[in-house]
Amino acid sequence: MATPPLLSTKKCPHCQQWSSWQQNPDDRCEHCGELLDPRAQQNAVAREELENQKMPTIFLIEIKPEDGSVVRFFKTIVRGGQLLFATIMAFLVWLVTAVAA
Ligand SMILES: [Zn+2]
Repeated sequence: MATPPLLSTKKCPHCQQWSSWQQNPDDRCEHCGELLDPRAQQNAVAREELENQKMPTIFLIEIKPEDGSVVRFFKTIVRGGQLLFATIMAFLVWLVTAVAA
């Protein structure tokens, strides 16, 4: 006998009506289409941004289209070095975690 999917309801913070809720951060109200749990959605977005920031791309040198070919050449080398460094750091972090576990 299959158990029915767990259904819960949540009161919509926008139209104050009860709507079925899958407990996902992006569930929307059946009545007005607004997010049932805006804070969970914000948390999910913030967490995603944090995960995207794991790769330290912020300090990467920006190669601008107006840079001359020589500047672009050197910037590409520095960028490669930075990426290599970031990869090595990520590997070391992984290694430390793997050994510690
Ligand atoms: Zn609503």
